[in-house]
Amino acid sequence: MSSATLQPVRLTPAKTIDGRKPDREDIPKGDVLCSYCTAKCCRYFALPIETPDSVQDLDFIRWYLLHDRASVFIEDDTWYLLVHTDCKHLQSNHLCGIYETRPQICRDYTTDSCEYDDDSVYDMYFETAEQVAEYMEARFGSSDLTKIRSKPPELLPVLR
Ligand code: SF4
Ligand code: SF4
Repeated sequence: MSSATLQPVRLTPAKTIDGRKPDREDIPKGDVLCSYCTAKCCRYFALPIETPDSVQDLDFIRWYLLHDRASVFIEDDTWYLLVHTDCKHLQSNHLCGIYETRPQICRDYTTDSCEYDDDSVYDMYFETAEQVAEYMEARFGSSDLTKIRSKPPELLPVLR
């Protein structure tokens, strides 16, 4: 029986200027901004979620963040669940593999205010369940937290 060796996908590097990613205002006229980008906008999806207004609501958000690749952010008073996952049709050259039939949301997206620049900031950004627990503590007081805090882990024996 032969065993196939899985080869890592080789990504084509994005274009650079002087060996680095240029600022958007330095892109030469006639060039497309996306060719200097590693398709940042095709590597996640984000959905608006209900604004949490109780410990129970925030406990759901803790649950989201117990999963890999999930984050939650707030922008303009709206809460979003962000899932960091590549689109299945993104090719190794960072181009869309279904360009002609890509969804409307992809067609509507423009480079005008996209995340090409590496300086995006959110009003709030949660990456871990512990950060949400701290937020709960600050917002609702510590008494509610006794229900959700995990027991501290047992200490490992000291090896001699
Ligand atoms: S739209 Fe913006 S984020 Fe998306 S690939 Fe183009 S430059 Fe990158
Ligand atoms: S369908 Fe194409 S444009 Fe839309 S997210 Fe996937 S790769 Fe990007």
